[in-house]
Parts: sequence; C-alpha cells; structure tokens
Amino acid sequence: MKKILDKLRSGKDISREELIYIYKNINDSDLEELMNMANKIRLENYGNKVFARGLVEISSFCTKDCKYCGINILNKDAKRFRLSLEDIIDSCKKGYRLGFRSFVLQGGEDPYFTDDMIIEIVKAIKSELENVAVTLSIGEKTYESYEAFYRAGVDRFLLRHETINKKLFEEIHETASYDNRINALYNLKEIGYAVGAGFMVGIPGQSYEDLADDILFLKKLNPEMVGLGPFLPHKETVYKSEEKGNLRETLISLALVRILIPDVLLPATTALSTLDKNGRKLGFDAGANVIMPNLSPKDNIEKYSLYNDKLNTGIESADNIQAIENSMEAMGYVISKERGDNIRRKICL
Ligand code: SAM
Repeated sequence: MKKILDKLRSGKDISREELIYIYKNINDSDLEELMNMANKIRLENYGNKVFARGLVEISSFCTKDCKYCGINILNKDAKRFRLSLEDIIDSCKKGYRLGFRSFVLQGGEDPYFTDDMIIEIVKAIKSELENVAVTLSIGEKTYESYEAFYRAGVDRFLLRHETINKKLFEEIHETASYDNRINALYNLKEIGYAVGAGFMVGIPGQSYEDLADDILFLKKLNPEMVGLGPFLPHKETVYKSEEKGNLRETLISLALVRILIPDVLLPATTALSTLDKNGRKLGFDAGANVIMPNLSPKDNIEKYSLYNDKLNTGIESADNIQAIENSMEAMGYVISKERGDNIRRKICL
C-alpha cells in the first residue's frame, strides 16, 4: 500500500490492479493519508473554497426505468411535479438575490420540456441575471439538442455514466443504451461544455474491479466536474432491500478522483450527507469542493425523491445560506457563490 500511495503522490500512472488493491486493502491510517493527499491537491488548485451551486429540480416526471431511482417511470406511487417556466426562472432569481451565480437545472427525462422550452428558460436566465453559469442535468439528448442548448448559453452539463461496466449498466437500466450514454459524454465535450460525469458507489452487483474501472474511465475522459456518491435504496424500487453504498468506498473514490484529476470540481453530494451525518465534512476532507443547496420551491422538494430519507432541510436548503456559510467556516472552508469555473477555463472567480 505504501508503494502505491507514494506512486499516487508522485503523479505517476496507476494501474487497475493497484486501484483494486487500494479498495480491497486500505486501512484507517492509509485512508487518512489518501485523503490528506487529495486535500492538499485541492488546496493547491482551489484553496479552501467550496463552490455553491443553486440546484433547481425542474421535474420529477421521467420516461426512464433506472432501477435504483425513486422517480423512475415504473414507480406508480412517485409524486410527480413539474415547474413552470416562470417558477424555474423565479427560483434562479431568488438564488441570485441570495448571492448565487451558478445554477443547476436538474430533472427526470421529461419530454414535456421541449428543446425550445429549455432554450427559452436558459436565455431568460442568462439575459436577466448577470454573469451567471447555467448547468443542465436533464439526461441523454441528441447531439443537435446539446448543441442548441450550448448556443443558447448553457455552460455545463452533468451526466453521470453511473457505471462503466456495460453489463452492470444494462442490468440497472433495462431499456437504456450504454453506448448512447458514453457517446453523449464525448459529444458534450466536443461541443464545448464543461462536462460532469460520475458514478454511484455501492450499486447492487458492483465490484471493486468496477470501481477501479470507473476511476480509470474518469481519468481518461478528464471531465471538468465529477459527481459521485453512494447508492441509497428507495422504498418504491426493486432495490428497496439492497444495502446502501459504503462511506469508506465513497471517500476513497472522491480522494482518487481528486488526485487523478487535480483541477476537477467535485461535489460532496446530498446522498453522502444522507448516508452519514459527518458525510459532508468527510467529503471535503477527501477533496470535494462543491455543494448544491436546493433552490426549488418548497412544495416540490419532497416530491423529488430519488432515495429514502433524502435530506432537504438545514444546510441542504439554499434559503439557509447563512447557516451554510457558518457551517462551512466551522469545518475550515469558505463558501464561494460565484460562477466557480474550472481553473482550466482560466476565468475562475
Ligand atoms: N435524469 C438526469 C440524469 O439521469 O442524468 C438527472 C436526474 S438523475 C435523478 C440524477 C442522479 O441521481 C443520477 O445520475 C443518479 O446517479 C442519482 N441517483 C438516482 N437515484 C439514486 C439513488 N437511489 N441513490 C443514489 N443516487 C441516485
């Protein structure tokens, strides 16, 4: 383990076998060392800033059958909502007044929102709010649609690959195409977006080999953002009785991503905070540097139920920005509500 950690520290390429070895054999003091290494790299690249993105959940309707997800089309008991164009724009305006300059519009794959509607929303946000970044997280679209959104002013796109193991991907998404998902990520990159890929830790049937392959895939794709967090079961899905993803494996994954993609923007996810009450802080200590407090209208937040007990109050809510700032400060971090571009783009504020 010592040799592998030294190799990681010196920036040398790390093999699949070495990554698997880490996941299988890491002890507490090795994990501390790995996290310290990641933390140091984050400090060198972004200091102790934690970038806050205002999250707007725009729709809980979804045409996809992702087996793990509480809003999948098969869940007849899911509470469905969709925001109006005005509600979406107003949520961003509210965030702007709170100081946010970066917004993430996320939702199920809801055909109600045509490309033209998305373009109208993005153009309104971009013209009414000065110098803000807009991120979309609305799933797989055609090259032409991604291009049109980009031309309308969308800066970033989050699309987790979920798992790079094709067989496992097809197991958890019975009707989705693995190739489409991977191609979509390369299309987004080619168009010019800051792209976010990522995976869930602890998907039923996932192995350490799979996690190692996820890390190597991310290193190869070299995205500007990575979203990764634990799988958490949802009571109305076929995975309701499966085990949660594991805290240690999530922290190892965060630290490895930070070390192998030093300038990555890396959220400490709500799933991680839901998994463990210290999850957020541990995530930062493992190299994460982004949070996504929720700006959605209160009535809808509970309906966007991806997994059991999803946190939506306290520091998960953008309304409590002062409490968020205080809590970050207590952990030794400073909130930045600016656009927070990847330093690769050289316009980091
Ligand atoms: N539909 C868009 C997409 O698929 O990219 C965005 C919405 S989707 C609900 C956002 C993310 O939630 C997914 O990429 C997935 O990793 C995560 N997610 C869904 N269900 C989850 C669960 N049960 N546990 C942990 N994360 C989950």
